[in-house]
Amino acid sequence: MYDPFGTRIKHETRFKYDRIPAVVELCIQAGVDLPGYPSRRRTKPIRMIGKKVIDIGGLVEEPRPSVDTNSAIMDLDTHRSFERFAPPLESEVPRIAQETIDAYEKVKWGVTKLMKKYTVKACGYCSEVHVGPWGHNAKLCGEFKHQWRDGKHGWQDATVDEVFPPNYVWHVQDPKGTPLRSALKRFYGKAPAVVEVCMQAGAQIPQKYKPMMRLDIVLPESEESRLVA
Ligand SMILES: [Zn+2]
Repeated sequence: MYDPFGTRIKHETRFKYDRIPAVVELCIQAGVDLPGYPSRRRTKPIRMIGKKVIDIGGLVEEPRPSVDTNSAIMDLDTHRSFERFAPPLESEVPRIAQETIDAYEKVKWGVTKLMKKYTVKACGYCSEVHVGPWGHNAKLCGEFKHQWRDGKHGWQDATVDEVFPPNYVWHVQDPKGTPLRSALKRFYGKAPAVVEVCMQAGAQIPQKYKPMMRLDIVLPESEESRLVA
């Protein structure tokens, strides 16, 4: 959004706005300038009483829309990235894994900080997220009983996990071993997908993930596991 405190997105005007990742939008509103995604910067802060804006802040002139839209934002596009980036050398993998998990932690830390200053809303029924003070009015909620709400989202304050979803997966203790089995699932731990990928690729992962990954659990051998099953 050019101005999160400006005109609210209506159902009819929804195609005038680009859909971009929530973390990117959060960073833009917090001051990052990306070509093609200008944002209204204010010289004075907005003043609000409750939900009512009593002073819309010192307005700066509208920027001209940029024509160069394929530079910075292209780096964020993962579409067909397998073809654009060569696979890493085997020897580089552990270092890349470590840098990736470090970056992941840094992004999560930054999102947590920014969300204390910039409001993010999440729909209580579906996974829709909106960066801005009021949510939007596009009637695209398809979740349970949406007919009763005329497709309107139910906006609540978002949590960090809704803005930067951890996407939990089973932790695989031995990626080269036998596949995970349903009968043993109470022995398996979980981790955010990025953490799991980085660990399998050789990174040292932060201590806080270790209990949920259940690294201390010894899996029953195949004979015993049949008894467990
Ligand atoms: Zn919804």
